[in-house]
Amino acid sequence: MPEYDYDVAVIGAGPGGYTAAFRAADLGLRVALVERYDALGGVCLNVGCIPSKALLHTAAVIDQAAAMAPHGVTFGAPEIDLDALRSFKDGVIGKLTGGLAGMAKQRKVDVLKGMAAFTSDHELEIETESEKRAIRFKNAIIAVGSRSVELAHMPWGDPRLMDSTSALQLEEIPERLLVVGGGIIGLEMACVYEALGSEVTVVELTPTLMPGTDPDLVKPLERRVRKRYAAIHLETRVSGIDVADDALVVHFEGKHSAEERFERVLVAVGRTPNGKHINAEAAGVDVDERGFIAADAQMRTNVPHIFAIGDVVGQPMLAHKATHEGKVAAEVCAGQKSAFEARVIPSVAYTDPEIAWVGLTETEAREAGVDYGVGKFPWAASGRALGNDRAEGFTKLLFEKGTSRLIGAGITGPQAGDLIAEAALAIEMGAEAEDISLTVHPHPTLSESVAMAAEVYEGTVTDLYIPKKK
Ligand code: FAD
Ligand code: NAD
Repeated sequence: MPEYDYDVAVIGAGPGGYTAAFRAADLGLRVALVERYDALGGVCLNVGCIPSKALLHTAAVIDQAAAMAPHGVTFGAPEIDLDALRSFKDGVIGKLTGGLAGMAKQRKVDVLKGMAAFTSDHELEIETESEKRAIRFKNAIIAVGSRSVELAHMPWGDPRLMDSTSALQLEEIPERLLVVGGGIIGLEMACVYEALGSEVTVVELTPTLMPGTDPDLVKPLERRVRKRYAAIHLETRVSGIDVADDALVVHFEGKHSAEERFERVLVAVGRTPNGKHINAEAAGVDVDERGFIAADAQMRTNVPHIFAIGDVVGQPMLAHKATHEGKVAAEVCAGQKSAFEARVIPSVAYTDPEIAWVGLTETEAREAGVDYGVGKFPWAASGRALGNDRAEGFTKLLFEKGTSRLIGAGITGPQAGDLIAEAALAIEMGAEAEDISLTVHPHPTLSESVAMAAEVYEGTVTDLYIPKKK
């Protein structure tokens, strides 16, 4: 009998967990992947990134069709078959999660269904409705992710009060939807429901939508949604919700002090880690009071053979951070000298327009006293953006004065999320303004705006006229 059943036991099969399990198996280790749900893929594939983007695509097509009228092309009002839309979205999820199950089999990763909890620093108990089993592991990787924050004193249990998971189920398109929280989830889901026909109101605690993002990047989105949504209440909180037969009666406090009725309410006020639910203390792993588990650059917790990755480690709670951390943890388990040393992690809000940023924001650079210069290229001067009839965006690059190295970038406009990857690579490679401006970008594309923003910084741009400073 070997001392351990597995070289690596991975707890949680989200993007962090399945990546770690597959990489470890590819490196020749015996791997168990423990997941409480039937489907692999975690929040991202089942109730997060993928279903939200499938629905955002539908929203974009509806909006684009309507925007064709001034171009002389008119379509009738959309007829929405909610069952068909739901099954398209579920089909996308099914293809991806089915693919993961197939790849786990091909790699001979043992997928163990059940809720895992530590019973010692080398043992897990896995519980299903019908049985309990124990496995012994040499290394463990904690990848248990996060869940929605539930506001207290709200009528949870009433199906009209939704979190992101229930909102993605698209049970109905309410006449009036209130979105509590003007962050990424709130604004992405507002975009979906508004395109499908709801009258949307957003309530946000702070003075701005998407707090933490440079205000100039958020402006084009705010201008667009203010025209389309019933209301956006900033510096306002929901103090309570009463249940009525035909509506949820919402009490607002703050700048907008009122009582209003909505058919449905989506609460999207952040996510909280799942670190407190795995009996980590039995393994001696430290969990902070919020449920986060700290990890070093090799993704080791305070117990060196137990690793933690993904949302449970901390911000930013993003799938692409989880996958990279998962690879590092697996490689370290296999004896490689890997470390998570990403200089930057890009963020994208897939709203309309999209907002994407990477590296230092301008606000952070200013607050940190960094000596920086800005190259900003307005999409109003981009032939492609004008042809798309979406010229409200811009591309902004921040360079460190002296070295002219790129230290941050922000892009707003349709497809900003795809464009930001070039800036992330440039920062990782230590690229200077000239490296970007002299890279020949294809014309006419939105990607040219990245090179032109670098030209603006260098003073070599010819697609804009910028008077010389006297
Ligand atoms: P998770 O995906 O949360 O997976 C953890 C897994 O562990 C789950 O499957 C869970 O069931 C399982 N688990 C937990 N505890 C146990 C246990 N004790 N035993 C067994 N199994 C357990 N990020 C992006 O980068 N881009 C996006 O566009 C994006 N959109 C999002 C949209 C929404 C609506 C939401 C909610 C999130 C979105 N995110 C997005 C965030 C992204 O989903 C997360 O950052 C990502 O899923 C984190 O991966 P993870 O592996 O750390 O954990
Ligand atoms: P968030 O932190 O992005 O936004 C929550 C918002 O709610 C904040 O603006 C906050 O000020 C506000 N808020 C908090 N309490 C409130 C209250 N009582 N009343 C009104 N407003 C309140 O959180 P989220 O939108 O729930 O998303 C959680 C995380 O999921 C994100 O931070 C991100 O890591 C991840 N995510 C990423 C993507 C993406 O990459 N496109 C999409 C969705 C989610």
